[in-house]
Amino acid sequence: MSQPKSFQPPQRRLMGPGPSDVSQRVLDALARPTIGHLDPAFVGMMDEMKGLLQYAFQTNNELTFPVSAPGSAGMEACFVNLLEAGDKVIVCQNGVFGGRMKENVERCGATAVMVQDDWGQPVDPDKLEDALKTNPDARLVAFVHAETSTGAQSDARTLVEVAHRHDCLTIVDAVTSLGGSPLKVDEWNIDAIYSGTQKCLSAPPGLSPVSFSERAAEAIKNRKTKVQSWFLDLSLVMGYWGAGARRAYHHTAPINNLYGLHEALLILKEEGLENAWSRHAHMHQALRAGLETLGLNFVVPEAYRLPQLNAVTIPEGIDDAQVRSTLLNDYNLEIGAGLGALAGKVWRIGLMGHASNADNVIYCVNALDEVLSKMGAAVKSGAAVDAAKQVLASSAAA
Ligand SMILES: *Cc1c(COP(=O)(O)O)cnc(C)c1O
Repeated sequence: MSQPKSFQPPQRRLMGPGPSDVSQRVLDALARPTIGHLDPAFVGMMDEMKGLLQYAFQTNNELTFPVSAPGSAGMEACFVNLLEAGDKVIVCQNGVFGGRMKENVERCGATAVMVQDDWGQPVDPDKLEDALKTNPDARLVAFVHAETSTGAQSDARTLVEVAHRHDCLTIVDAVTSLGGSPLKVDEWNIDAIYSGTQKCLSAPPGLSPVSFSERAAEAIKNRKTKVQSWFLDLSLVMGYWGAGARRAYHHTAPINNLYGLHEALLILKEEGLENAWSRHAHMHQALRAGLETLGLNFVVPEAYRLPQLNAVTIPEGIDDAQVRSTLLNDYNLEIGAGLGALAGKVWRIGLMGHASNADNVIYCVNALDEVLSKMGAAVKSGAAVDAAKQVLASSAAA
């Protein structure tokens, strides 16, 4: 092995399913001096962070904070705190991440009743309703709002309504939706929600914003058994993050990473949540025009497409891995491979957060046009970039 030296990462464009490009402003924030996590200056920053997270989630929930670990830990925090052994949960699955919810339920000693929808389709509220009717003893409903494995968006508001009609609490995965498409925790009455920092918030990975309603907090308070995870037990964590908490030591907060999230949330607030949502929608339409002009087809029906995650079918006879490595090596462009049942069949092109911009749209469409034409794919070369540019120009005011 050669002598180790400082690591200098290449400058990429991150247009996969996350992480997304982190802006220089956030990178600068990460590099600020580390201070103590009980330092009054740090505690003041955390109080601000809570308000910024409440804004991003559109909630007044007191119990809103970033778990000190990636999105998967936010997922686990929701399940281990709300479930006890013997509970029954309805898990709606329409992609990879619903499957992980099932894993979480079972590891809590609870039972998961699965409601399956085809990959690429949204969760069907009627199927959920049927499952709740046949399982009147279910306590909780869990589903993914934005399925990153397929690019499908489910109707969170309706699914929560159905769950509440049957007296169930709800856990919603908003890892990919937060900051990228409409999400209103209070208006939609969501009970427990988790997200990630490296998708549409464009902060580095390693934190998971979560929020719990009064109802959820009450359910946690009324547990008969201890939460099985010491690290994720909210009754302990809230001694640090909670209202009027004495900021007692629980674990050492990832201080610099929290600077980064704080800055990323500030950027979101400055832009305005609605503006961020419409920027994502606009960039998606431009990318879509380019990809469809090339002849690539979307996996998800138009009505349910996520603007921040564009899954398209790989053209016949084209080598998935070769295209992605050419994009990475020759264009410094990262796009995502298919996951699970869609591995080798689709590409997942992210337009998340800071990366959801006109320059990236044009760059990606052009790169795919060049690489696919060179490989002899049956694509319509030469017109795609103009098609994307036309969309960018036509609704530039939007
Ligand atoms: C990325 C993702 C996760 C997992 O987040 P990590 O930060 O990778 O742990 C969970 N759910 C969905 C929908 C995701 O896209």
